[in-house]
Amino acid sequence: MASNEFDLIARYFEHQNVNRRDVALAIGDDCALLNVPAGSHLAVSTDSLVAGTHFLADADPALVAHKALASNLSDLAAMGATPAWVSLALTMPTPDEVWLRRFCDGFFALADYFNVQLIGGDTTKGPLSITLTVHGFVPEGQALTRSGANSGDWIYVTGQLGDSAAGLAVLLGEVTVADEALKATLLERHYKAQPRILAGQALCGIASSALDISDGLISDLGHILKRSQLAATVDVDKLPLSAELLAFEPELEKAQQLALASGEEYELCFTVPEQNRGTLDTALAHTGVKATCIGQLRTGTGIKLMRRDELLEWQLHGYDHFAE
Ligand code: ADP
Ligand code: MG
Repeated sequence: MASNEFDLIARYFEHQNVNRRDVALAIGDDCALLNVPAGSHLAVSTDSLVAGTHFLADADPALVAHKALASNLSDLAAMGATPAWVSLALTMPTPDEVWLRRFCDGFFALADYFNVQLIGGDTTKGPLSITLTVHGFVPEGQALTRSGANSGDWIYVTGQLGDSAAGLAVLLGEVTVADEALKATLLERHYKAQPRILAGQALCGIASSALDISDGLISDLGHILKRSQLAATVDVDKLPLSAELLAFEPELEKAQQLALASGEEYELCFTVPEQNRGTLDTALAHTGVKATCIGQLRTGTGIKLMRRDELLEWQLHGYDHFAE
């Protein structure tokens, strides 16, 4: 970028509140030097957010930063990992300091909350995009993968589903919501997901598989089924829906369909063997996160949507970036 690339890095990224003891060398050299605790795997995940695709170019930079970091931390949560470090590759058309200041406000507020240190990155000129790589630790042999599920395991989701899609519809002007408070809540739910870090950690040793809901439950649950070579039945009446979603979409069937397809929820979907269900309730009670059982794994392929004993013929799709 322009000659003031180094000034920008020094001004906005070098100084922060989190200074972790496992960082031997932070921002400023050719590489960061980091120490992984003995007995832990290093869990690493990258996500990119591109203006116009994942957020509107004129969106509040603090909200965009929150969304970028939250979606990355959510991947660590889905493995049961504890976040530690993040690197940031930022591409901007111009060195816009007003934008950067707001971006850093949102970014460091969430990073500080989870004790995550920014340990490096890259700053370049081009169309606005944000790529983060998060790093965390998970005790060896404890990570929650997509492939460990068995027939008979119960399917759970944390929190409530559908609010993010409702917020996005409001944001894109596809729907008008007259109630200003409702509108604000839905927008907040879209932008300010809370990564389920504590819940993910609590699930280690209890859940047989897990992932985070980024493309919609119907699509993401499909990943567990594929990796574990199983089928699922989901009772749509069990889907956890918020009062706000039902105010936004009073028709129950449509609200349930939104909940099934809504991406960018960043809730966890996980499976639990029958014998661990009691332990699950105790483990989650400490995290303050509610989980709801929505169905069960079976042998076979595909997802059967049920309303009690009735098989539903709903055609639903999650989000696919390359879909025509
Ligand atoms: P190099 O030329 O070796 O790639 P850079 O000039 O890109 O180095 O970066 C200098 C230092 O600043 C490096 O330590 C790099 O990790 C850090 N850095 C660059 N951009 C960012 C950013 N957006 N956020 C955090 N650290 C950054
Ligand atoms: Mg560089």
